[in-house]
Amino acid sequence: MDGEIEEMNWVIIVAVLVLSFPVWKFFERKVGRRKWPAVQVSFASRLKRILGKRVSFYKNLSAREKRRFEFRVMRFLQNHEVTTAGTRINETDLALVGASAVIPVFRFERWRYRGLDEVVVFGPSFDRNFAGTGEEGRVVGLLGTGDLDRKMFLCRDALRKGFAQEKDGDNTAIHEFVHLVDKMDGRVDGIPKVIIRRQYVLPWLELMKRKIGEIEKGQSDINPYAAMGNEEFLAVTAEYFFECPEKMEERHPDLHKALRYVFKDPD
Ligand SMILES: [Zn+2]
Repeated sequence: MDGEIEEMNWVIIVAVLVLSFPVWKFFERKVGRRKWPAVQVSFASRLKRILGKRVSFYKNLSAREKRRFEFRVMRFLQNHEVTTAGTRINETDLALVGASAVIPVFRFERWRYRGLDEVVVFGPSFDRNFAGTGEEGRVVGLLGTGDLDRKMFLCRDALRKGFAQEKDGDNTAIHEFVHLVDKMDGRVDGIPKVIIRRQYVLPWLELMKRKIGEIEKGQSDINPYAAMGNEEFLAVTAEYFFECPEKMEERHPDLHKALRYVFKDPD
């Protein structure tokens, strides 16, 4: 399996990289750092236009749900810092960060991301040793740990690409926010206990095992990165679920049903 993954020349998405504080400080110094100014109320009208143009999840909502989505994005951006490192972002990027945060938890009325203070949008992507060479194994998103706890790192180009090609089942920012949902119970293990009832844990584990087995045998269209572990399975299949729900329903009805349950999708 490892060989297969290497061969595919993928951009690696790392769930929880053990990124040491000195290494990050070095990177931060190297690329410079900026803080996005606080989101003003006037941003709300522009946000609506950006979401309408760029985010199909939003476009498929009813008028009432759209207003709720906009409100939730504004609230997320007002309660979490967005900073940049080594790149510049615009209001569209800011809206996409907010949309990525809201999409996985949109059906949870009182959701708050505890355990997150800051989203750092960085660029360019870097390899795990910060050497910055080659395309393989490049980091495009991760959750910080240790001294970098409560920070999420997203590569700007991957953030944009996730929403530019919405039907490919690949969305780095949604992936990382699903890891954060998973982490709410203290462990990133593919079992988001804050939203999944205890009696469904075992069936969910069994389903993950079966679907990962299919991937390992080359009998699945799910991104093979999902077979790296249960935590990656949840995050990768959530990307697929939010971007291509019809395709998932057709090809993986059992998984589609389970993820509808996990994310409380009423449709
Ligand atoms: Zn991941």
